[in-house]
Amino acid sequence: MERTVHAPARRAAALCLCLLLLAGCAGPGAAQSRPAETELFAMDTYMHLRAWGPEAEAALAELSAMLQRLDGQLSVTDPGSEIWAVNHADGAPTALSGDAFTLLSRTLDFCAGTRGALDVTLYPVSRAWGFTTGDYRVPDPEELARLLPLVDCSAVTLDADARTVTLPPGAELDLGAAAKGYAGALAAELLARRGVRAAMLDLGSSTICLTGRKPDGSDWRIAVQDPEDPAAYAGVIACGPGSICTSGGYERYFIAEDGAVCWHILDPSTGRPAKAGLLSVTVLCPDALTGDLLSTALFVMGPERAADWWRAHGGFECILIDENRNILVTEGAADRFTPMGAYTHAELTVIGREE
Ligand code: AMP
Ligand code: MG
Repeated sequence: MERTVHAPARRAAALCLCLLLLAGCAGPGAAQSRPAETELFAMDTYMHLRAWGPEAEAALAELSAMLQRLDGQLSVTDPGSEIWAVNHADGAPTALSGDAFTLLSRTLDFCAGTRGALDVTLYPVSRAWGFTTGDYRVPDPEELARLLPLVDCSAVTLDADARTVTLPPGAELDLGAAAKGYAGALAAELLARRGVRAAMLDLGSSTICLTGRKPDGSDWRIAVQDPEDPAAYAGVIACGPGSICTSGGYERYFIAEDGAVCWHILDPSTGRPAKAGLLSVTVLCPDALTGDLLSTALFVMGPERAADWWRAHGGFECILIDENRNILVTEGAADRFTPMGAYTHAELTVIGREE
């Protein structure tokens, strides 16, 4: 049996800073459009919020409070959260707030369409690997075989009138693949309500939400991390308003005794780290929740299924980095993505509408 000998779990703080530099300054006239800025720790990550304009300061204060509130509701490890209550209800219906119910309902609908790539009931398995506690280990096959039957999002029952959720005994939810995206979608609504016309919200590097354009009218520039070097970038994307969500094995992983890299994105069909040929997936999508769901799901699907999904559904663009260091870009993002660093000369494959 494998045993864990090494367990690095990296935080995104350093990367955030560099990313902000790339995404950053407003260029000529920047002094007059200095942004309001806030930093906070929520959803297990450092967040950095920037907004421009007269309403910016008040909007960011409201936004920070909202992010902390959502964290308290959706955390899988906080005994005061709604998700904790659901996971400890032992088969009884549990009432949810409007936000938790909406997020769960949208996530379940999405999971159902992914043919097993995304499953919100994966928690018993990811806990066995230690991904939420940091107590990393490789579960043995018997343990996985015992836990896998609990992973079945079709067994979750929602009652929209009573706004309750009921799980089979032993089943547990984990909204980790979607919570930051939902927060980003709510944040975009809040900023629009407040009349903020330019904002860049870094909800922990893997979820970036952009409102409007940079105050000088130019595109935002968002870096994509080199999945094999936390200090480097694989490229930069020029983008307008919307969300940029990235899922990558490098975000949380440990090395098992046999040298296998074990990361936090799992394949629900095996209960093991999803190794479908990708190192990272970056999704550009108007809606941050959809982008967050998609980036995790496409990572599990692998390059061929991801390309098929894009052709069939559309509504987003993506940049895939595969395990051979090739970069695949859907055609709508091809002109906006510039490889850099170790990827400057990487083979860049454009995914077109026709197969
Ligand atoms: P993300 O960073 O958005 O890709 O989300 C990763 C998080 O989603 C993990 O830390 C787990 O909490 C959760 N997760 C991992 N694999 C899956 C999966 N196949 N389906 C649903 N949630 C997952
Ligand atoms: Mg996600």
